[in-house]
Amino acid sequence: MSRRTPPRPLDVEELFPEVVPFRRETVRLHPRAGEPGCGDSSVGGPLLWPAGEPWPECPEHVGSPMVAVVQVRREDVPALVPFPAGRDLLQVLWCPLEHGIDLVAPLVRWRSAADVGEVRQAPPAPSEARYGRVPRPCVVHPEVVTEYPSWDLSDEDWDALEDRFQQVEEETGWEYQSHLSTAPGVKLGGFPGWCQDAQWPSCAGCGVPMEHLLTVESTEEYDSRQAWTPVEDRDLRWQGPGLRLGDLGGVYLFECHGCPGRPFAHRYDA
Ligand SMILES: [Zn+2]
Ligand SMILES: [Zn+2]
Repeated sequence: MSRRTPPRPLDVEELFPEVVPFRRETVRLHPRAGEPGCGDSSVGGPLLWPAGEPWPECPEHVGSPMVAVVQVRREDVPALVPFPAGRDLLQVLWCPLEHGIDLVAPLVRWRSAADVGEVRQAPPAPSEARYGRVPRPCVVHPEVVTEYPSWDLSDEDWDALEDRFQQVEEETGWEYQSHLSTAPGVKLGGFPGWCQDAQWPSCAGCGVPMEHLLTVESTEEYDSRQAWTPVEDRDLRWQGPGLRLGDLGGVYLFECHGCPGRPFAHRYDA
């Protein structure tokens, strides 16, 4: 079953034309509890990991296995996700043990699925994993939606728009940040799902600000008005990955497209 996010409840571009030049597209993954196979796109599912490659371990908690967070096949998502040439599989793992203000230690792999051959079984998640950091296996339902900046608005634009945001909220009940700007949940591209001030990392190699690759937020269902809830899920009880990243925060992955090997970095807020 596909998942379709309803259109924004108000005409954002008409009400706030200042945000139009910053419009972006994101791919919401809409993870729902299920039984993905290792060849499927998934959140928290088995990975297509080559038997000839050791399972990744946390550099800080030596010997402790990382856990699968996201696997995406190129054919399952629109062309706007920038797979490197010759690669058609994105894999993201992280260490679910205590990592202080970093929250988790992630790892990003871009592969060619055809080169994997025999598949390695994942080891069990470490028993000391922190609560809510090992995602429940979910199948995904990728969907492209349009976003406008929220925490990524410049101070200047924020000052120019704030009174109108307030006025629209008073008149309609729809709040720009929660209901009109960025989509919650697990998503590729678009704007990071910041809960606080934006904190884009720069590449350690070239110094250029990195690109947003993936947001993994604790949940996509905190909004009682269901502005971002797919029409298929309205008023239903469903299970997502069951993540709890700090106080219902998010982990944001970034990468540099200019440097060899696509260096990555992450940020966390709650
Ligand atoms: Zn660790
Ligand atoms: Zn770089």
